[in-house]
Amino acid sequence: MFKVTGYVMKLAPIGVFAMISYTVASFGIAMLIPLGKLIFAVLFATVLFICLVAMIATALTHINFFHVIRCLKDILFLAFSTASSEAALPVAMQRLETLGVPKNIVTFVMPTGYSFNLDGSTLYSSAAILFIAQLYGIDLSLGQQLLIMITLMLSTKGIAGVPGAGIIVVAATAAAFDLPAEGVAIVLGIDRILDMIRTACNVCGNCMATVLVARWEHEITAAVFKKAYDEYFHKKETNPIA
Ligand code: ASP
Repeated sequence: MFKVTGYVMKLAPIGVFAMISYTVASFGIAMLIPLGKLIFAVLFATVLFICLVAMIATALTHINFFHVIRCLKDILFLAFSTASSEAALPVAMQRLETLGVPKNIVTFVMPTGYSFNLDGSTLYSSAAILFIAQLYGIDLSLGQQLLIMITLMLSTKGIAGVPGAGIIVVAATAAAFDLPAEGVAIVLGIDRILDMIRTACNVCGNCMATVLVARWEHEITAAVFKKAYDEYFHKKETNPIA
């Protein structure tokens, strides 16, 4: 699996290059400007979302969720580079146990979250749908936007944690709301980049949810987490390879 993941990571830049070349060749170089704006909008919204959730969770539980994210750094990079939350699942589960979350909580919440809690994919889908509508000058009323949001909140529940799964939901939703299918082809050109961002968000969201559930179930306390956090970084400092 690591070998296959390695191939994917090595070939990803060529794949991204090919997809962007296709978009530029089909729609012209000027198309890169709105696409660049979409990438920044999704990136900004994702970072804002993670920070807001981490702040609220920290206030509610007294566990520092920015510390949780810090311990997950390498796993989030794995999710980012492979664009697959499934690839990051085993290591993420292991890491949460290292941080003091009991195995019964991890093995229940993480797989469930992978089916029902893909925040990054939901966020991306709404941005992509609005992008397609704006690109073609289609004015969506507030009611329509809310309806799209509810549709996406439900339809993204079925997304698999594999690369490119989210664009299928975007294509289906665009068709359901009579948005041009060519718009989906345009987004496809940069989908890999957006996929990397949303996958990291999906993994981060599920790990944070697992710690939160463990706290609510009184299976972990702020002191236990802090101790495990300190031990984790102490071990890393004394043995960086471990
Ligand atoms: N690639 C995403 C993930 O693995 C799913 C998606 O395409 O939205 O979480």
